[in-house]
Formats: sequence, C-alpha cells, structure tokens
Amino acid sequence: MSFGLWLLVPLALLVGVALNLIADRLSPRGVTCSYCGRRRDCGGAWAVFAYLRRRGRCAGCAAPLPLRPVLVELICAVGLPLLWRHEGLTLQAAFLAAYLFVLLLLSVTDLEQRRIPNEVIFPALVLALIGAFVQPPGDWQSALLGGTAALAFFSLLYWLGLWFAMLLRRRVSALGAGDVKLAAFVGLVTGWPGVVVALGLGILTGAIAALVLILERHRHGEYRPGQTMPYGPFLAIGAALVLLL
Ligand SMILES: [Zn+2]
Repeated sequence: MSFGLWLLVPLALLVGVALNLIADRLSPRGVTCSYCGRRRDCGGAWAVFAYLRRRGRCAGCAAPLPLRPVLVELICAVGLPLLWRHEGLTLQAAFLAAYLFVLLLLSVTDLEQRRIPNEVIFPALVLALIGAFVQPPGDWQSALLGGTAALAFFSLLYWLGLWFAMLLRRRVSALGAGDVKLAAFVGLVTGWPGVVVALGLGILTGAIAALVLILERHRHGEYRPGQTMPYGPFLAIGAALVLLL
C-alpha cells in the first residue's frame, strides 16, 4: 500500500467515528452499557482507542463494552483505503464510498432499533439521484429504471405483507415502509439490471438467515409464529456485493 493510502486511514477512521455518533444520536438511548446504563462519553468517541485503553471493559461497571462502535470504525478504516486503491481517487469512487457508508449506517440502525430512519434514507435518496446524473459515465436511465423497479417490487411485497398480517390478525407486517425506501435506494445505486442481482442476493441471504433463526429457536423451544427480523442489513449486503464486484 502506498504512503498516500496510509494517510487515508485516519480520515477513514474519522468517518467511522462520525457514523457512530450519528447512529448514537438516532437511537433513543444512544449506545449504553447494558449493565449499568453508562453512555459512551467523549473519550469513547474514538471507539477503537477507548476499547484498547479500557481493555474492552465499561468504565462504570467493568462489563464488556458494546462492539458496534469498534466494528464500524474498523470497517471504515480498512475498507475506505482498500476501496480507493481499487477504484482510484475519482468522483465515482467518492460516490461509491458514500453509498457504502449509508448502507453500513442503515444496517446498524435497523439491527439496533429495527428502523430505517427518514433522517438518513431521504438525504441518501437525494444523493443517489444526484449520483445518477453526476457520476461518470452518468448512466441515469439505468439508475432511474433500477430505482423504479425496486420501489414497485418492494411496495408490492409491502402491501402483500400488510394483507397477510390482516388475514392472520397480526399486528406486524414482514416488511416495513423503511425497507421499501431502502430498496429504492439500492435500485438507484446499483441500476438496471444490477438491482435484480442486489435484491435477489438480499432476499436470498435474508431467507437463509431467517431459516437458521427459526431452526435455532425451534431447537430451544422459543419459536413463536409472527416474529420478524430486520431486513435492512441483508438488502445492504446484496447492494454492497453488487457495487463492489
Ligand atoms: Zn457498565
């Protein structure tokens, strides 16, 4: 790795710190210790350093520190320089990096709070629309077709989910409205026909994870019909694979 790319590591780490702070702010509780309820303080904002300094233990009660902030920082610090080495320092690479950061942030909020916040997904959709026209080679027809197809398909799944929930007299639908917006974002950034592969991979990995989860819960006698799981991280994985490969 060249010297210039090493210089990117602190910048990438800074992006990870920012993503963690946004995820904390969007969470009603922030990231707190699950034992004593202590919040991440200013000293903990650089999670990797805080983790090393405190040897992975909460300063309040010595319980293990939450791993999410550390993982997000490490993914950014390693991923961004690698991305730039592969793609070069271009406008296209900058848009690609921004899309991947959005997917990472939304995976975190969906896993932690089961929601795709409008404060993130709406600006992300605007960014993807701009990217469709700005980004060379600026294949905006492909982006718009991908976005529209994903929006239509996931809206259909969403309404089917609501209809099934009504038939079975359950309160929750399998898909949330946030998943529909996230699918539209995935369609815009992967374009047509990439979106078919991205959503296909997302649905497939989600289905495999759901099956494993159901079997595990059955084994422990904890299975209840109608339980749902966050779908965002799987859509994000599918989109990231198509964007990177
Ligand atoms: Zn604690």
